[in-house]
Amino acid sequence: MTDVSTLIKGAKELGYEMGQNEINQFIAYKELLKEWNQRINITSITDDVEIDIKHFIDSITPIKTNLIDDGMRIIDIGTGGGFPGIPLKIMKKDLEVVLLDSTMKRISFLNEVIKSLGLSNITAIHGRAEDLGRDNNYREKFDIAISRAVASLNTLSEYCLPYVKVGGYFIAMKGSDIEEEIKEAKNGIKTLGGEIKDVKTFKLPLSDINHSLIIIEKIKETPTKYPRGGGKPKKKPL
Ligand code: SAM
Repeated sequence: MTDVSTLIKGAKELGYEMGQNEINQFIAYKELLKEWNQRINITSITDDVEIDIKHFIDSITPIKTNLIDDGMRIIDIGTGGGFPGIPLKIMKKDLEVVLLDSTMKRISFLNEVIKSLGLSNITAIHGRAEDLGRDNNYREKFDIAISRAVASLNTLSEYCLPYVKVGGYFIAMKGSDIEEEIKEAKNGIKTLGGEIKDVKTFKLPLSDINHSLIIIEKIKETPTKYPRGGGKPKKKPL
């Protein structure tokens, strides 16, 4: 029997009382995650409690920023097994969610999750962040871009900020040791039209893990030369 009792408890600590529908969806998601993980590499975290804390609970913490409102369009860059995009969608059904990843196998997994859980208004797209960020169907079309465990903040800002509308936000989900990363990324963030608004550091419920949310507001349009191609955001960060 798949257990999500830690998730239910942790969500309560964050202030969310989960309904039966959400609980069933997280159970189905966890079952698919474990099943697919035997065939393709999705996550190294396979223990029930650890999945609840490190994937599910961690993924829903950005709701606490109060920036994610019903009806918003949100893109999860380098979503992998769907984190944080799928848990956010389960908790906030009115969001329009795009999940982006450069690994096709993970996109196939996500499509299976979307179908099995009966989620609507959510799509999984195969591509590289720095390519789609130049495509006018995606560029500056999102209220929020969010990303966890994909790249250092300077590289990640070039991946994510081009997707955000002026007035929207890029939320970088990070660990606790972020001062140096922020220092290195400051110039690039400014060049890309962003400004750091807030950094929220908090302890994940039912654990002693400290995580941070770096909140970057898009204050002006990203110059058209960004994101750069040819792997430059990673090889030569701004
Ligand atoms: N966000 C998920 C999480 O927190 O569990 C997955 C993290 S995993 C360590 C990094 C993911 O980012 C991988 O699935 C990888 O395929 C994807 N990725 C890395 N670089 C990317 C790029 N330039 N564009 C799109 N996806 C990328």
